Amino acid sequence: MSYNIEKIRSEFPILSRSIEGKPLVYLDNTATSQTPRRVVDAVVSGYCDFKANVHRGVHTLSQKATELQEESRRRVRDYIGASSEEEIIFTRGATEAINLVACSFGSLFPRNGEIILTVMEHHANIVPWQLLQSRRPDLKIKVVDINDRGELLLDQYRDLFNENTCMASFCHVSNVLGTVNPVKEMIGYARSKSVPVLVDGAQAVPHMRVDVTDLDCDFYVFSSHKMYGPTGIGVLYGKKEHLLRMPPYQGGGEMISHVSFEGTTFAGLPFKFEAGTPDFVGIGALPKALDFMDEIGVENIAAHELELMEYAEEKMREIPGMRIFGNSPHKSAVVSFLVGDIHHYDMGMLLDKLGVEVRTGHHCAQPLMQRLGISGTVRASFAAYNTLGEVDSFISALRRIIPILS
Ligand code: PMP
Repeated sequence: MSYNIEKIRSEFPILSRSIEGKPLVYLDNTATSQTPRRVVDAVVSGYCDFKANVHRGVHTLSQKATELQEESRRRVRDYIGASSEEEIIFTRGATEAINLVACSFGSLFPRNGEIILTVMEHHANIVPWQLLQSRRPDLKIKVVDINDRGELLLDQYRDLFNENTCMASFCHVSNVLGTVNPVKEMIGYARSKSVPVLVDGAQAVPHMRVDVTDLDCDFYVFSSHKMYGPTGIGVLYGKKEHLLRMPPYQGGGEMISHVSFEGTTFAGLPFKFEAGTPDFVGIGALPKALDFMDEIGVENIAAHELELMEYAEEKMREIPGMRIFGNSPHKSAVVSFLVGDIHHYDMGMLLDKLGVEVRTGHHCAQPLMQRLGISGTVRASFAAYNTLGEVDSFISALRRIIPILS
């Protein structure tokens, strides 16, 4: 199948706008991707046609809203290869999903337990474990380092395991380096030591087919807004055997079976972990984003993005003083870089003046920045709708601003 970039782009209303009088070149897809019209339409329809609270009413609208939400849950289950919709919990995003696991599953950790993280984690996969540790000072966090290409040191990973290890939690794809970690191998090793694993898939699901059953991970998390879906929702996949044992994360409506002042019993899965009114409109629209990805084929999206990244990197390497962070042969479409001693912030500001939207700063990965000995980078990241022409615009913008900032 040929990659019909014009058709793809025509689905994204925002791509026809301009910035500072220049055509928009949106290269901040790692932070959030743009949203196709069909997802926006589904959100509008959720508000205009079906809005009523879910799981609450016998009336038509509530039933329809509930149906859309539960249909979305089944769609997500199938999309990531989970065996039951009871294992799919809707959250506010990857961040909340990790907080849920750290708080609830973490409360079951044995005394003196050790948690293995990696130096390339997003703050969302560091701080929740530190918060747990602040309540449980007996717990220890251990960190896997990287090599010069930005790949995890797998020998060190294996060496960090001991009889106290109670959790390993790492990203599938780094949001800064783009490194695609060998998660199946890493999960396999943890499994051989009977250690549960959480995989932060926020940067993986938009770019590759993920099958949680094949991976055999215990938890997998991701956010809708990075994969062409609505903002404010995310998914926690968890193995049923764990979810059944885990205490609720938040209390309120929806997550109970019966409440009295003498004692409360909780709802079954997945509702035990979904206190309060969820973003049922966004959840109902999420399948449209999955349709969008399925129609093109996530493998085709990834191949297109990699072509853009390789083209961009080739052109960037011709620029004197260019340093690219993250050079693994297993890389997703993210390029983090610095040029000479130009500050990332200044470069981002001037690129914006030329219509090119990139991310600058520490990318919520300060420990990684510390490891690399820098305060931040400029990061360009690609999605299904980006073009080679946009890469050319980005490179020529870079070439224009570098002499001004040097
Ligand atoms: N993990 C990774 C690897 C990420 O890139 C991000 C978002 N930048 C998150 C977690 C957090 O995602 P969210 O803000 O959507 O909860």
